[in-house]
Amino acid sequence: MISHSLPMQPDTCGYWFIVNHQQLYWPPEQQSLALMSMGELVALFGEPEQSGSLGELNGQAAYYWVLNDQRDDEDNWLSPRQLLAQGDGVFELAARAVQVALFLQTHRYCGQCGSAMHLVSWELAALCHRCGHRCYPRIAPCVLVAVVKDDQLLLARSSRYKAGFFSILAGFVESAETLEQAAVREVKEEVGVDIDQLEYVGSQPWPFPHSLMTGFIARYVGGAIRCQPNEIEEAHWFELDALPEVPPVQTLSGQMIARVQQRILGNKKAT
Ligand SMILES: [Zn+2]
Repeated sequence: MISHSLPMQPDTCGYWFIVNHQQLYWPPEQQSLALMSMGELVALFGEPEQSGSLGELNGQAAYYWVLNDQRDDEDNWLSPRQLLAQGDGVFELAARAVQVALFLQTHRYCGQCGSAMHLVSWELAALCHRCGHRCYPRIAPCVLVAVVKDDQLLLARSSRYKAGFFSILAGFVESAETLEQAAVREVKEEVGVDIDQLEYVGSQPWPFPHSLMTGFIARYVGGAIRCQPNEIEEAHWFELDALPEVPPVQTLSGQMIARVQQRILGNKKAT
């Protein structure tokens, strides 16, 4: 459980994830985070807008430190996406830090009555003392679907991707929908194809800005590819030993593509 209310002293020491407008302080020469005291941070950045506990990193306490001010050293700040390859849970804590910062920034006032919100001391939540409305950090579940037909994988290029870059299908879960229903609906909407035999693979927090990716491998049942306008630029069946550029293995979609590839190509070799 994340607690944001901790008795912080100038000598409180740990790993600090410093967030400014959804970016993390990570100077170009920095290889990994260094242990620092709160006093050192105040000397470097001034008082934070918010700070609190994030969890643990390498057996040491990890904290967030939210600035949200104007800074002129933009080379020293990067998106958590650029920390994907950092091991030891650094990406996960970075993802949590930017999501907590966004929650705090967007829940200053009550969405129901407009009064100022107050942070609850025993959990990460914002509470309106006037009407009792309580909010928790927003998490948007999203399904990733790897559709397999014999030795082929269905990959699509979204209008947001550069030319030549493809990935498996993805979409947000709607209200009152199961993950499986969302997977079937998204695949049908985006490429006009029917699927079944959904197999859950795993999940990955994705802080852009607050998604939780969940992955399924599914079997193609029928239908010809028909791309959803304004959403999918192109989609094709690719042979698994001749894939185009796809997401890296640090991402859940990259891991799923690699898993399908190993399974199908491994089976092929065995027969
Ligand atoms: Zn209220």
